[in-house]
Amino acid sequence: MKAQQAGGHTADRRGVMFVISSPSGAGKSVLSRLLLQADPEIRLSVSVTTRPRRPSEVDGVHYHFIDVATFNQMKDRGDLLEWAEVHGNFYATPRGPVELALAEGRDILFDIDVQGTLQLYQRMRSDVVSVFILPPSIAELERRLKRRAEDEERVIRRRLKTAESEIAHWNDYDYVLVNEDLERCYGELKQILNTERLKRHRQPQLQSEISVLLRDLSVVLARPE
Ligand code: 5GP
Repeated sequence: MKAQQAGGHTADRRGVMFVISSPSGAGKSVLSRLLLQADPEIRLSVSVTTRPRRPSEVDGVHYHFIDVATFNQMKDRGDLLEWAEVHGNFYATPRGPVELALAEGRDILFDIDVQGTLQLYQRMRSDVVSVFILPPSIAELERRLKRRAEDEERVIRRRLKTAESEIAHWNDYDYVLVNEDLERCYGELKQILNTERLKRHRQPQLQSEISVLLRDLSVVLARPE
C-alpha cells in the first residue's frame, strides 16, 4: 500500500509544512536544530537571503547567501514560494525543494517570519502547520540577543523593535508556545508535529485501507450465524 519513491523514501502520507516563527532570540533556532537532528523525516527549507553571513553560519546549510540582483531574478522567474524584507534584507523560500519534499511525503521545517507565513497560508493552507514561539519575558529576550553577541548593539535594538510587531501576530498561528524551559518547549513542538502527521487529510492511503476493512467485514457478516 506504500508507494516507493526516488531515493528509497516511502511516501505513505503527505508531508507537513512545519512553520516555526518567533522574534529573534526566542529560541527558535535551537529548537529547529534539535528537531532536525532528532528526526530524519523532517528537513530544513534552506532560505535565500541577502543578509551578510554571520561567522557561525555556513552557506548552503543555514541559508543560501545571495546578492540583491540574484534575489530579483529568482523572484521574477517565479522561483520563490514566498519572500519578505526583514531588517532591511531580503529573505525567501525557494519553491523547488519544497514541492519535491511534499511529493515524497517528507516534512519540511520553515524558519520564516510572519509575512512569509501569511503568504504560505494563501498558497498552501492545508499543508501548513504553524507554531509561534514566545520568549518568557522581554528582559529574557534581550539577554538572549546580547548573549549571542554575533550582532552589533544597533542590530539588537532593531530586532527588539521588530519583535513588537511580530508578537502582535501571535493569533495568526495554529499553535503558540512559550519557551521558558527549552526541554519542555521542544517536547511540545515534537508533540505537535507527531499529531499533525496523523491528520486524516495527510493519510491518502486511508481510503483504500478502509475499503479493505469494509470488504472483509462484509465477508464476515455474510457468514451463516
Ligand atoms: P535572521 O537574520 O536572524 O537569520 O532572520 C531574521 C528573520 O528572517 C527571522 O524572523 C527569520 O525567521 C526570517 N526568515 C528567514 N528566512 C526567511 C524566509 O525565507 N522567508 C521569510 N519570510 N522570512 C525568513
